[in-house]
Amino acid sequence: MKKYYLAVTYDVCEHNDFFMDMNEYHLISLVILDNYAKYLAERDIAPIVRVFTSDTSDFIGTRLYKEYKFKEYECGCVD
Ligand SMILES: [Zn+2]
Repeated sequence: MKKYYLAVTYDVCEHNDFFMDMNEYHLISLVILDNYAKYLAERDIAPIVRVFTSDTSDFIGTRLYKEYKFKEYECGCVD
């Protein structure tokens, strides 16, 4: 069965309980997923990138496939 994948970038600030989705990117292939997640994080300055999977192209009923964390894009807040 064909699977559909969607990457979502998140803006996060743990100090202010802030967690907001920024952009969604439909994935054509998972071949370079790790590199692509890194690219999206850099592009959106996103500390978290999540990849969701679905059996349907409308993405009703998604499951978390993989989560990437990028410390270098975490907010620079000081406690
Ligand atoms: Zn912060």
